[in-house]
Amino acid sequence: MNSTVSVPYARVDCSGNEMAYVREVLESGWLTTASKTHALEGAFRSMIGCGHAIAVNSCTSALHLALDACGIGPGDAVLLPSLTFTATAEVVRYMGADPLLVDVDPDTGCLDRSIVASALEHHPTVKAVIAVHYGGYPILMHGPDGLATLCRERGIRLVSDAAHALPARRDDEYVGRAGDVTCLSFYANKTMTTGEGGMLLTDDDEIAARAKLMRLHGIDRDVWNRFIDSKNAWEYDVLAPGFKYNMPDINAAVGLAQFERLEGMRSAREACAAFYLKHLSNVPGLRLFVTDVPSGDHAWHLFPIVLTEEAAVSRNDAIKALAERGVGTSVHYKPIHQLTYYRERYGLTAETFPETEKIWRGCLSLPIYNLLSDRELRHVVESVIDIVSPGYDQLCLAN
Ligand SMILES: *Cc1c(COP(=O)(O)O)cnc(C)c1O
Repeated sequence: MNSTVSVPYARVDCSGNEMAYVREVLESGWLTTASKTHALEGAFRSMIGCGHAIAVNSCTSALHLALDACGIGPGDAVLLPSLTFTATAEVVRYMGADPLLVDVDPDTGCLDRSIVASALEHHPTVKAVIAVHYGGYPILMHGPDGLATLCRERGIRLVSDAAHALPARRDDEYVGRAGDVTCLSFYANKTMTTGEGGMLLTDDDEIAARAKLMRLHGIDRDVWNRFIDSKNAWEYDVLAPGFKYNMPDINAAVGLAQFERLEGMRSAREACAAFYLKHLSNVPGLRLFVTDVPSGDHAWHLFPIVLTEEAAVSRNDAIKALAERGVGTSVHYKPIHQLTYYRERYGLTAETFPETEKIWRGCLSLPIYNLLSDRELRHVVESVIDIVSPGYDQLCLAN
């Protein structure tokens, strides 16, 4: 075992035009939202093929704007998976609405049509669904088994929390085309970063207009721009008590450089995933999520593994042992139903979420990013097998 190898859980790659574009912004003297942000929005509109791309300062902001634009209000029920980051649930509370947490498909870690359909039998008044494309797996949206099809049939709003799913595709369509709104994250360790940032994607003109209005204090910029010539330049009007969610150009500059390498970084992560799948698929004590989409369609933001009862160690001990060998890991996620605020406010118990519980008890996420070397990947695989399933034949790694 090579103890000199150290593999951090994540590494940020700013090796492209990041520095040059940020310099342009700093030298321009205009640091907040302007041409770089507009360029990033344009880049997303043309890549995804959606009518509107609205840059904001986080995915959390995008989700908040999405629910607001979908008309979610006090007392409304919004269905979402318990297996997600806390942001997915908190935005529901921002609106005074209540999160209705459900279990996930154990194969994908995601919601699907049948899970949502059976939840709706018990809760027919649900106003919206937030679907999380866990790990970057693109949820099936169209056709008779599609989630977007179901939501359309029932007149329920569908918001995608696609914080993991850039750039993921399904049936020749980018995640971001289906449903009412899709929200992306450009947080530091996501599939592309602006430091902090996010993007709201939609084809719906009314949703887009409301989100743009609320993104910047409720100031109607379009109206303001239209009258700017005939009115005093300092004057503006406010149509609603909006938020301060716009993306500064410094961040957009980083994003434009990252965007240029988006597909390259994705395929490098896919190569990491292929290596893990090849060497970890049949290891006793380990379960991997299904990847039943064509090569190229998965965003591969995470590579979660789930330790089963056959594993030689508990998840927590595996994390410690991996850290001792220099392998950084993370956990996605401690489910929402276990977090004090939600557990106490909604009286949630673990028995309601058997699949999420199994994932939570055994899950840890392995490093997956474009800067991982073959040697590092090999070290991760050897360490995982050694810790979880000592004695398992590793001969396949010799070549
Ligand atoms: C990271 C993440 C968010 C929040 O993204 P920010 O840009 O940090 O606000 C929301 N949902 C999921 C599933 C995430 O992983």
